[in-house]
Amino acid sequence: MPLPNRMLTALAVRMHGQTYLFDAGEGAQIGWKKAQLGLRGFTMLAVTHLHADHCLGIPGLLMLRTQMDDPEPLTIVGPPGIKSFLEESRKALGFYLNYPLHFIEWSHTADDLAYQDSRVRLFWKPLKHTQFCLGYRLEERDRPGKFNPHRAAQLGIPKGSSWGKLQAGQEIVLENGKTIRPSQVLGPARRGRHLAYVVDTRPTKAIYNLCQNADIAFIEGMFSPEDAEHAIAKGHLTVVEAAKIARRAEVKKVVLVHISPRYSDEDLADLEEEAVRACEKAVLGRDLAIYSVSYGND
Ligand SMILES: [Zn+2]
Ligand SMILES: [Zn+2]
Repeated sequence: MPLPNRMLTALAVRMHGQTYLFDAGEGAQIGWKKAQLGLRGFTMLAVTHLHADHCLGIPGLLMLRTQMDDPEPLTIVGPPGIKSFLEESRKALGFYLNYPLHFIEWSHTADDLAYQDSRVRLFWKPLKHTQFCLGYRLEERDRPGKFNPHRAAQLGIPKGSSWGKLQAGQEIVLENGKTIRPSQVLGPARRGRHLAYVVDTRPTKAIYNLCQNADIAFIEGMFSPEDAEHAIAKGHLTVVEAAKIARRAEVKKVVLVHISPRYSDEDLADLEEEAVRACEKAVLGRDLAIYSVSYGND
């Protein structure tokens, strides 16, 4: 339930001019505007499950997106039923879209790779909630290795555009006709940044798979440990369970999100304290907060 001063869970990931959105509860358009996220580059939406607090904001976002001139297609990744939910809403509300929607629905035969483009790969795994729910891991593609100028000089490669081409992974041909491959002057590929988004679940092995060594993980911390019976009954995590999972999965930073509306803003500091006791890298997510993820040391 959205509160007057707290929105529903949605996560926008911005990378290389693209915006990848995870979930869109009621009022997602408001958050989108407040965060000043432009529509250009918003080409993929991943939905965890068909509970209203995660998907009722999608029709509004789809309509908002029609304001662009010549919009690109939008890919929607999600659980079985996401396509019919949106197609039925579109029919019932009679709204027109000036761009195509591509749906990728999970099925029993689906493999772990849900979606990919030239910048990222998105993986999914079923979680353990009161309704079928997916967790996600978004991996930036590896970057080329470091350029070795000493080696380039040894091979007689002239400085300038040839260096740039090799750095970008392209072969070049020298004036003497010799072909130089990027691997001759680049070190090993460097890992891109990895992010996990896991909400609405009880502890389960899939969370560890999705979060393992992630640079940042957004995990739900719906309840305080004192209210653990609600977490069990409703298929959620407590802040302490989430923090412990993050610690064991060795994530570099964990942001606890989707806090129950039963906790007032004053309670949030206590929840954060409990989480930090279980994992010192934990913080409580706040609406419109921005988390920058840098590359590891390389
Ligand atoms: Zn749910
Ligand atoms: Zn939820």
